[in-house]
Amino acid sequence: MANVSIKRIEHDLFELSKFGFNEEDKGVYRQGFTDADMAARKWLINLLEQEGMSARMDGAGNVIGRYGEMDRPAVMIGSHLDSVPAGGIYDGTLGVIAGIECIRTIKENDIELDYPIEIVGTSEEEGRFGGMLGAQALTGSITLDWLEKAKDENGIMLKDAMAQHGLNHHDVLHARRDPKSLKAFLEIHVEQGPVLEAEKKSIGVVEGISGVFKWIVRLIGKADHAGTAPMNMRSDAFLGLADFAHQIQRIIDEEGTDKSRITIGHVALKPGFPHTVPGEVDFTIVGRDLDPEIMKGLANACRRVLSTIARRHRLMFEYEQMSWLEPQYCDTEVVDLIEQKTIDRGYSYMRMPSGAGHDVQFFSNITKTGLIFVPSVGGVSHAPDELTHWGDIEQGTNLLLDCVVELATDKP
Ligand SMILES: [Zn+2]
Repeated sequence: MANVSIKRIEHDLFELSKFGFNEEDKGVYRQGFTDADMAARKWLINLLEQEGMSARMDGAGNVIGRYGEMDRPAVMIGSHLDSVPAGGIYDGTLGVIAGIECIRTIKENDIELDYPIEIVGTSEEEGRFGGMLGAQALTGSITLDWLEKAKDENGIMLKDAMAQHGLNHHDVLHARRDPKSLKAFLEIHVEQGPVLEAEKKSIGVVEGISGVFKWIVRLIGKADHAGTAPMNMRSDAFLGLADFAHQIQRIIDEEGTDKSRITIGHVALKPGFPHTVPGEVDFTIVGRDLDPEIMKGLANACRRVLSTIARRHRLMFEYEQMSWLEPQYCDTEVVDLIEQKTIDRGYSYMRMPSGAGHDVQFFSNITKTGLIFVPSVGGVSHAPDELTHWGDIEQGTNLLLDCVVELATDKP
């Protein structure tokens, strides 16, 4: 059984982390289409070429290396090169570097393949401009209209940020891959959550990306003087919210699964004055699950519970659904393959959903996909102290190697 070299992975990850590294807070600042991001892309092109691959940057800023001469659909491995502000050194980068290490190990062990392998470092996954630009471009899920309008939170237009680096936003549309040119897409990523560590597993075999709905809810009561309004004569919007928050666990127990999540992440009380009974509260509800029927059950239960609570507290209840994203599933054959290869290696693992979005979700629209998670220490990510143990990275990359070799080989 061929094995990857964790030393080489470690070396490459540290080299890559230097692009955008901030000495003060030890965070990586490599947001999409910044100087640091583009410098990292040039570094990656060099590295891919050093490893004997042909490498290029496409119109969306994705860096793609190709290994193998055959004119057949490619098994693509990758993840993103960009980071959030003050990000860690593993998020995204692991999926690219692990892919390169697979190629090295394949060459070292003279493993013969029937299909080419492509390594991709996608662009702008973290959503500086509000999408997952690179993966959306590769999979044809982007429009010129969106490209023209996209801007970051400082008002910088995507097209201007691209132009600064000699890229033309019109070319993003040329990055689209013919689905026939791909055999499969595999991604390895840090979990960014606490589950694998808590369950003492080294590998997460991801079944899909949870669907997400987002509501904005408004409970309207009556603002009153906090001294003169008796407790039993109030229409206190905050009490309605508090009551609802208290019911979330029951909603999940009755309608959800262990994969369900409901979160109130933003709350605004009005008028928001210490001596006034809050007459109105606006808040968000974000619900997630891997099953669209469960998502509907959760959403219906939220609506039911909110209207009961509104009556009890003499409130009016309004809500608006801002978005509803269906779950995205990895290919069941690839998921089974990853599980089997994990068992063959004797690694500890569990099947799980991903609560966060990843590049892989767009590839699910055009090819067979698989996603491997490795544990995040303390569940920490998008922060400088993001950490995954080298031993887990080594196992995850060995597993990736086994899956890639299998997918890139004709069955006898
Ligand atoms: Zn990521």
